Amino acid sequence: MFYDQAKIYVKGGDGGAGAVAFRREKYVPEGGPSGGDGGRGGKVIFIADEGLRTLVDFRYKRHYKADRGEHGQGKNMHGKSGEDMSVRIPVGTVVKDADTGEILADLIEHGQKVVVANGGRGGRGNARFMSNTNKAPTVAENGEPGEERNLLLELKLLADVGLVGFPNVGKSTIISRISAAKPKIADYHFTTLVPNLGVVELEDGESFVVADIPGLIEGAHTGAGLGHEFLRHTERTRLIFHVLDIAGSEERDPLEDFQIIAEELRQYSQELANRPILIVANKMDIPGAEENLQRLTEKLGEDYRIFPVSAATGEGLKELVYAAAKALPEIPAPQIFVRDEEQHKLTQASAPHRFELTREGDFFVVSGKEVEKHVQMTMFDREDGLYRFQNILKAMGIERALLDEGIKVGDKVRIAGIEFEWEE
Ligand code: GDP
Ligand code: MG
Repeated sequence: MFYDQAKIYVKGGDGGAGAVAFRREKYVPEGGPSGGDGGRGGKVIFIADEGLRTLVDFRYKRHYKADRGEHGQGKNMHGKSGEDMSVRIPVGTVVKDADTGEILADLIEHGQKVVVANGGRGGRGNARFMSNTNKAPTVAENGEPGEERNLLLELKLLADVGLVGFPNVGKSTIISRISAAKPKIADYHFTTLVPNLGVVELEDGESFVVADIPGLIEGAHTGAGLGHEFLRHTERTRLIFHVLDIAGSEERDPLEDFQIIAEELRQYSQELANRPILIVANKMDIPGAEENLQRLTEKLGEDYRIFPVSAATGEGLKELVYAAAKALPEIPAPQIFVRDEEQHKLTQASAPHRFELTREGDFFVVSGKEVEKHVQMTMFDREDGLYRFQNILKAMGIERALLDEGIKVGDKVRIAGIEFEWEE
């Protein structure tokens, strides 16, 4: 079994704190402020890599943190930025916010990059707070915390062709047969990448990916057994091989089987069911197959292309493979997710910052990422710090919102765990 899903935690580096410092010069009794800014924290960046086929690595390493920015120092020295952390992710991986389920990125092309956790901005040093009214500011900012997220990675198999059919109709044998590279079919190879997924290579260098879907049995669409798990990975499948035991060697009627499986497909996903289907009439070497093939052709021959094959003898497989290779380029890849027009641009997976105002008993409670960030960045033990924070509340419209809610002098406010008393 291959791993197709992983839950990980990513965190951008925290920004370094700004410094509070003053110049000490021989002949300058009161030097100006000289605290440098903190450095920016590193980002966590995903890079899609077609060389990777599983998410197995993410089962063992679940935490990805970029470096923090260094703190600012005196003499206006800025802290160094933290290093970004680059993480290679298999092409075909959908990145979701594990907490909200929101799709953040769909890594569909080699080299595609996406920032999944931004680094925090460095805090400003006191040199930046000098003004005409305040020549010696003692305030600086802490660094902004790096963004953090729980992510759900889902690797969709990029199978071009999905094999469906009842158990024992010969799906695995067909795959093993074309992978065996016997002299008769030596003009293409089958490379197994992971179980149930392989690449069929044709002599002209063309190739396509095939996935055996052993779980597609009655009830699969309801999530019973492996069926659902596997079907989830065939969402990008462009072409379906519907494999039948045309000899009815297990006392089953291949025509009936076709209808049952087709219905399964429709129930699971209309979209999947709408993909072009090639019927593979397998086990042609068994007596009775001819007769059933005739019945099948009469019934479905007008609507479907039917390929009589024998996985046992290899008969007909080459024709099937070449027909698929010819058909595939003409079938558009299903558009499951919205594609980003400029995929190679470094895209930002970021949620908007907003504040929310609620009442909890006596308290007016203000929450939201941006305001919480400001609280973390404020040095409340300095008078200038508090003053600055009040200005931020005003600028963000929080003061207005509190007044609209009817706040009065003496009322209590809680912001990101810190409690204040409302003053004029
Ligand atoms: P799957 O469940 O669809 O993957 O079916 P398998 O590939 O495991 O095949 C089920 C059984 O049918 C095995 O015993 C195979 O050897 C046999 N089988 C598969 N293809 C053929 C065929 O073309 N002719 C004959 N005679 N037997 C076959
Ligand atoms: Mg099988």
